Amino acid sequence: MESIIGQSGEIGHTSIHFSGPKCDCGNTGCLDLYSNINSFELIVDRK
Ligand SMILES: [Zn+2]
Repeated sequence: MESIIGQSGEIGHTSIHFSGPKCDCGNTGCLDLYSNINSFELIVDRK
């Protein structure tokens, strides 16, 4: 397992969902993808 943090140097391209949608940067489930559609709250489930 590689570290998923610090590969691209951007927190927005930290993979938070390995089975998520593919990002342009080559990762899947980048945090940036979810912040774009403002659904990160659904993932972290902070009720
Ligand atoms: Zn990305």
